[in-house]
Amino acid sequence: MSTIDGLPPLREVIATHGLVAKKSMGQNFLLDLNLTAKIARQAGDLTACDVLEVGPGPGGLTRGLLVEGARRVLAVEKDARAMSALAEIAAIYPGRLEVLNADALAIDPLAHLTPPIRIVANLPYNVGTELLTRWLTPKAWPPVWSSLTLMFQKEVAQRITASPGSKAYGRLAILSQWRSEPRVVMELPPEAFTPPPKIHSAVVHFEALPEPRFEANAATLQRITATAFQQRRKMLRASLKGLHPEISDLLESVDIKPTARAEEIDVEHFCALSRALDAA
Ligand code: SAM
Repeated sequence: MSTIDGLPPLREVIATHGLVAKKSMGQNFLLDLNLTAKIARQAGDLTACDVLEVGPGPGGLTRGLLVEGARRVLAVEKDARAMSALAEIAAIYPGRLEVLNADALAIDPLAHLTPPIRIVANLPYNVGTELLTRWLTPKAWPPVWSSLTLMFQKEVAQRITASPGSKAYGRLAILSQWRSEPRVVMELPPEAFTPPPKIHSAVVHFEALPEPRFEANAATLQRITATAFQQRRKMLRASLKGLHPEISDLLESVDIKPTARAEEIDVEHFCALSRALDAA
């Protein structure tokens, strides 16, 4: 069967290289190359960009990124079993694909790339949210990357794009919407993956804003939102009391009712609170 790039179909790649999916590595592979090319297109024009892909596995999305014209792809994969399959892709795209056999949480792959940088990944849930938090909270802004295009559980995608007052609204929505413009660009049913996971998935595309919507220190904002949403049903004067002895006064100074709950407070007011806490 012919494929978009002349390489073997992914089922054959998996059989040849013994890449039976491991649950412990969060492996649910995308085997439809038309679908992976479509995901790659959601990242925008790749032709003048370096792309960081985390967790390429057998390389379906990697091949999509290269077919869509990525200037250069750096693929970071923890599972050593995938290296031989990825080397075959690198061989037909000379100088355009570099593969690192590493844990993406243990290294800083962005240091290996030249801006403009786009990040594209289909990662296990816990790794994805941890990396997202890191990419959204560097001290300085704008970051080295210009966009993120990431697959999440649908429920996590809803948390990222949620508005104040909704059940899904929390720390992830605030960190994401503070410094970027996240939007859900695709939804995928379980059958799109091999093996199929129990949940539905969604691709979220984040464009980095040139500057944060409101001034705040990333570490303080993270601390406040983590504390406030840990007990989301409690009034803020109670949930945040460990942060400052006069927390009610501090809340009132930025127009937040001390009796309000975390889920009612928008990004602007969380940023104002974070500035007030830093100043106090
Ligand atoms: N991108 C491939 C696709 O779409 O078919 C694979 C997706 S699979 C959901 C997640 C991939 O991330 C697996 O190949 C897994 O081995 C890899 N992975 C898991 N944890 C990782 C980590 N900490 N660093 C790098 N890769 C990781």
